[in-house]
Amino acid sequence: MKSTVYIALGSNLGHRLNHLRNAVLKLREVLTDLRTSIVIETEPLLPENAPISWHLPYLNMIVTGDTTLSPQELFDRLQTIERQMGREKNHPFWGPRTIDLDILLYGDTVIDTPQLTIPHKGLKERDFLLHLMATLAPTLPYPATTQTFESLALKSQFQPKKSFVLFPRLMGIVNVTPDSFSDGGLYKEPKLAVEHCQNLIAEGAEILDIGAQSTRPGAVQISPEEEWERLQPVLDQLDLKNIPVSIDTFRDKIIQKLLKQYPIAWINDVSGKLKDSTLEAIQQAGCKLCVMHALSVPPIKTENIAPSWDALDVWAEQQVSKLTAFGFKTNDIILDPGFGFGKTAYATGLLLKTIEHIHNWGCPILVGHSRKSFYRSLNATEAQERDIETLAVSQYLTGKVDYLRVHNVAWHQRFFSTQQWLESCK
Ligand code: ADP
Ligand code: MG
Repeated sequence: MKSTVYIALGSNLGHRLNHLRNAVLKLREVLTDLRTSIVIETEPLLPENAPISWHLPYLNMIVTGDTTLSPQELFDRLQTIERQMGREKNHPFWGPRTIDLDILLYGDTVIDTPQLTIPHKGLKERDFLLHLMATLAPTLPYPATTQTFESLALKSQFQPKKSFVLFPRLMGIVNVTPDSFSDGGLYKEPKLAVEHCQNLIAEGAEILDIGAQSTRPGAVQISPEEEWERLQPVLDQLDLKNIPVSIDTFRDKIIQKLLKQYPIAWINDVSGKLKDSTLEAIQQAGCKLCVMHALSVPPIKTENIAPSWDALDVWAEQQVSKLTAFGFKTNDIILDPGFGFGKTAYATGLLLKTIEHIHNWGCPILVGHSRKSFYRSLNATEAQERDIETLAVSQYLTGKVDYLRVHNVAWHQRFFSTQQWLESCK
């Protein structure tokens, strides 16, 4: 027999949004017809004498779906996921946790055993849970009562400050440069760059892409020494164990040095011309490699591919066969078709429209479309003001590609959480 269950997810340690995403990906294997609420931030519920180190805000969400597992079997599966995700077995009751999975409802079943209480004890007392329940199922009655979640949520009057989504997965752009095309100079100072990194994560980026060498048309090439001097102070001040970072660079020397000193999650290479020894070092370090298609870096506006996938397909196949020969798993190779690098605005329109073609490439796809010059096809808005156009393309790409590389993470989260709110309601 199938039952509809509601599971609360919470995290207040490390990269909270990434923990929630990983848990939801695992729950996809446990539940069918999965629906996910928006993600909201709440202050922790703590006893009065709780240590200061426990005062860490949570990200919370609810997932609902159907299961044929019994309540006990479902509970065991959730405990396994918690353990796999690094939650200690005997953590303090109120203490911080990477992930908490609680069964809120199991159909309209009422259970009260020492191990399991359903509906969950906290459900009626936690305003934020009633709010999330009412966004998912306003007309659903609380088990064994006639009160709907709408009426319960209205009494509590909870109001989130911000909402997030888990998908699309966002890479936040950090330019530690004086001359990038849309935000050059804003984050040149290490202190400002670090602040920007932390803001982008707080706003809902999964990973940051930090670059010190601008690749915009006409950008000045800096020396490797200068590139290092821009990157190092920023990386020194980031909590790289909890903040996944990609470095946007195409210099072998820089990559070798970075991998020795920092736990870098991805190298984002816009040249596709790294030395074999560099590719080996990246693979050995367990670092992922993102490669972008470009005819030249910086791009020359008059040199472009024909408006079709043909040249890109050949390039992608070469990249994948070369990198897999170096030991990269296809999941650790991320390909970027490189809009703005050797594609006219007209070709970009055609390629974006037919983006699903890219599934043939067989590895994760990242698209960088944020604030690029092809939006000049539409209007004369300055680069830093192209976030509306960027959002329209982001919406089109969502569900079709794996990562969106964007400047304005906060607006993406506002936009996509609104969509999620609409889609998740039943
Ligand atoms: P929290 O109450 O903050 O979720 P824990 O996850 O550590 O804290 O939960 C402690 C215990 O709560 C679990 O070991 C489990 O036995 C018990 N429990 C009772 N009812 C439920 C439920 N519906 N879902 C999950 N855990 C439950
Ligand atoms: Mg729990």
